[in-house]
Amino acid sequence: MNGFRQRMTRFMYGRYGNDQLSRVFLGLAMVCLIVNLFTDLAVFYVAGLLLLIYSMYRSFSKDISKMSAQNQKYLNWRYRRIAKYNSTKKRLAQRKEYRFYTCPGCTQKVRVPRGRGKIAITCPKCRAEFIKKS
Ligand SMILES: [Zn+2]
Repeated sequence: MNGFRQRMTRFMYGRYGNDQLSRVFLGLAMVCLIVNLFTDLAVFYVAGLLLLIYSMYRSFSKDISKMSAQNQKYLNWRYRRIAKYNSTKKRLAQRKEYRFYTCPGCTQKVRVPRGRGKIAITCPKCRAEFIKKS
């Protein structure tokens, strides 16, 4: 067992290894293969195998900077998705007391209290004024 570990360590030397993006591909591969078990559709089998191979290719790749850049891109995308999800959640929680408008000038989201009738809203970002019902 020790010999195997040493050989594995030597094999992985200078290679990229595992990262978040590889784990996503691995997870998708598992989902495809499990779906294939239940549906017997060859397309899921092929997709699962390809995803599995690509995930391994990424881990064993020696092009560390390229793999790292891909992973960073994925992490940025995931961060933006989480931030957007959180802001939507926050807005939904406040929707009884506030109305939300998008500034026509700069697309900044503007929050105004409800129940004040027609009001002129000044965008806090670009100072554009627009009239809405609150
Ligand atoms: Zn604006």
